[in-house]
Amino acid sequence: MPRLCVFCEGQAGNQEHALPRWLAKLFTDDVVDFSQRIHDGSEPRGRLWRGRPFSATVGTVCRACNNGWMSDLENASAPILKPLVRGEETTLTSAEQHQVATWAVKTMLMLRLVSWDGDSQELAPDTYSWLRRFGTPPPAEQVWLASYAGEGQWPMTFHYYAAGVAPLGETRPTALNAHCSAFAIGHLALGLAGSRLREAPPAVPSLPPDTWRPMWPAYGETIAFPPPSILAGDDEMRSLAEPSRWGG
Ligand SMILES: [Zn+2]
Repeated sequence: MPRLCVFCEGQAGNQEHALPRWLAKLFTDDVVDFSQRIHDGSEPRGRLWRGRPFSATVGTVCRACNNGWMSDLENASAPILKPLVRGEETTLTSAEQHQVATWAVKTMLMLRLVSWDGDSQELAPDTYSWLRRFGTPPPAEQVWLASYAGEGQWPMTFHYYAAGVAPLGETRPTALNAHCSAFAIGHLALGLAGSRLREAPPAVPSLPPDTWRPMWPAYGETIAFPPPSILAGDDEMRSLAEPSRWGG
């Protein structure tokens, strides 16, 4: 059976790199672990992928997407991302935050596909096509910016949770309907969360507020990087991927 591209449903014949070449040039391709877990109210289950992240490929993205809009997104994002990856002090305008947030969603989806290209019931069905068509994070997505000191795994970490969020008025989740994730590449750390619920309470990171900055939805203010407090290692990255609260 020919595999279809997750972004456009065109035929996906080739393996495409999950991470762009411009990033691979900045680091040695050391073996790292990707952690993916399912929290649906029953016993949490996990999958682990171990490998060289800059060599990792994805079989469900077509060449036209990879060489077209995804390449354009990389080219537009790389000049903004490089100082962040290096841990240099800088500021991000709201337009730059939009760019980084869009890139963060694309990169999270690609890293997820490295080890998990089966079902995607926790993602809204139009998550992939939205990104391709509008070049902007899906409406229910939240993205936070943080900085990683690199005392744990280096040069990258990836944590992903498929989760169940209880609808308003209910006490238990009824389905896998949400995702939350955090990844670091160099000193750039990003946290993401989104749910399929029509009225989803916003997620709030469980880390101290001086470690992260909300970047999407846009607030319109220029933000400084790095935030006052930097995430040290793997425990903090895992916490960034686990919002403590969905709602108030
Ligand atoms: Zn495609």
